[in-house]
Amino acid sequence: MIRDHFRVLIADLSTEQRTITDIDGRYTVAGGSGLAAMLFEKYCSPSRSWDDPAQPLIFAIGPLTGYFPLMSKTVCAFKSPYHDQYAESHGGGRSALSLRFADFDALVITGRAKSPHALIVGSRQIELRDIHYLWGTDLQVAGKVLRRMFPGAGHRTILRIGPAGERQSPMACITADTYRHFGRLGGGAVMGAKNLKAIMIHGDASFPLPEGNDYVKVFDKVHTDMTDTEMMSKYHNLGTPGNIRLMNELKALPIRNLQATADPATDGITGERFAEVALLRNAACAGCPVGCIHIGFVRERFHEENRYLYRQISYDHELIFAVGSMLGVMDCFEVLKIIDVAEKMGLDVMSPGVALAWATEAFGKGMITEKETLVPLAFGDSNSYQQALEHIAYGTNEFYQLLSQGTMKAAARYGGGDFACVLGQEMAGYATGEVFFVSQALGLRHSHLDSGGYSYDQKPKGKTVDDAVKFLIQDEKGRVFLTSMVSCLFARGVYTDDMLSTCLTSVGYGALADNMDTVANEIQRLRWKMRIKTGYRPESVSIPKRFSEMTNWKGPVDRQFIEALKAAYGQRIVELAGFAEGK
Ligand code: SF4
Repeated sequence: MIRDHFRVLIADLSTEQRTITDIDGRYTVAGGSGLAAMLFEKYCSPSRSWDDPAQPLIFAIGPLTGYFPLMSKTVCAFKSPYHDQYAESHGGGRSALSLRFADFDALVITGRAKSPHALIVGSRQIELRDIHYLWGTDLQVAGKVLRRMFPGAGHRTILRIGPAGERQSPMACITADTYRHFGRLGGGAVMGAKNLKAIMIHGDASFPLPEGNDYVKVFDKVHTDMTDTEMMSKYHNLGTPGNIRLMNELKALPIRNLQATADPATDGITGERFAEVALLRNAACAGCPVGCIHIGFVRERFHEENRYLYRQISYDHELIFAVGSMLGVMDCFEVLKIIDVAEKMGLDVMSPGVALAWATEAFGKGMITEKETLVPLAFGDSNSYQQALEHIAYGTNEFYQLLSQGTMKAAARYGGGDFACVLGQEMAGYATGEVFFVSQALGLRHSHLDSGGYSYDQKPKGKTVDDAVKFLIQDEKGRVFLTSMVSCLFARGVYTDDMLSTCLTSVGYGALADNMDTVANEIQRLRWKMRIKTGYRPESVSIPKRFSEMTNWKGPVDRQFIEALKAAYGQRIVELAGFAEGK
């Protein structure tokens, strides 16, 4: 049975009060990104700092969660420690289905627990449990203990943080189950600030599927489109690591802090190479027949008589770029070892990887010394990077404390802002050109997933600012509607507007299907409104010089075009949010 309202659990960690409430808005914001922004507007105090206990940490799912494959994401919203503004981070694993089966559309966590706690959520049980003895444990240790404490699989998810989150680093992620993350903009730090080591969601209820044949036919069509087409092969076979070779061939792969965009040595870290020597198996988020998660292994010798421990580590394009090509580490097992350390520390791999690339160049230029870095950072030196990641997580000295706040914070103290590869936050693995750089720098999540700027750069289109702005706004609108359904964006080729309309109608949300364009406009407006209300000013975003010093397959980057596009796109964002410029 569908619900016309949202059923939301509000858990206050300070008072230990739990409230279940019905909130209207299904037909104006749909769910997912839209619901998260709506709840943020309701519960956030824009003028208070991100770590004020009153600030909410929100998890929201969508109207199609549980009904269709790849509607598998949960949207996490919070005020980010990275910039003290509104932020969204999306994660998968079993999180979305667990919330659906626990019978909630969203979870809003406020307050701060007196000591490190776990929040346990189910349809019949909502509980806070003191787990102070797990504070300080790395993610692998915490995961093992938590799985024993909360046994089960299927519709049970465990979200948790590591030492980086406990120390409230903006580079701290929230790990979902084992191989998925709410990665960027510091959701892990928000949990840390709330003294919340873990959230366990137990999907212990059931929900009825629509009666009749219509829904079954639509489900079959969606499932077939996902599994019988190129999409399955693309994401299941090599997965996103297949992009490493393609980007290298395009001269668009960031290498050694974007001092190069192609290098034959990247042969050692292509998706093909990983598949050949390091791939163990694929895994999938709950309810996903595609299974894009690629899992390799690292092993450690613990006895001279050839005895080994091994661990399974997931990898994808962004991780391989961030701690592989960007750090000049061109061996897949060394890349997996670095990812393994970041995972244990509860760090989002991309941000510290790119930050360490900046630090390595700054070290080479003599702007910082071993007094700051504690290890001799050098491109290609995997051992030093593994140690440096622990220093970032623990904030061992002033240098690492600053670096763990973001590359620009360290550059403000030590210099080197010109060669910081930061586009709002540390860059994603696509040096495709002007439109991507502007889209990540200004985008709401500062993510390559905000809009398809990287694909626009690759199309043989004329270079006009107007066309690019129209593309970015329109493409973002389509994506925010999808993320309000909580679709995995890998399914965007299957979940066209027509298909989404059919899916919504088949489960009973015909009124939403009839109004998709208006709802998408409202969600897009609301998200930007929240961002601007919490301090975002697109005109103050800068794109470091390094991005106009590089060359890719199209030749040198056009700085003038970057600046013109940045100004026009920024202005459009402010208009779209309903704010007069500069207010
Ligand atoms: S395609 Fe990958 S990320 Fe998307 S739902 Fe499936 S397993 Fe998860």
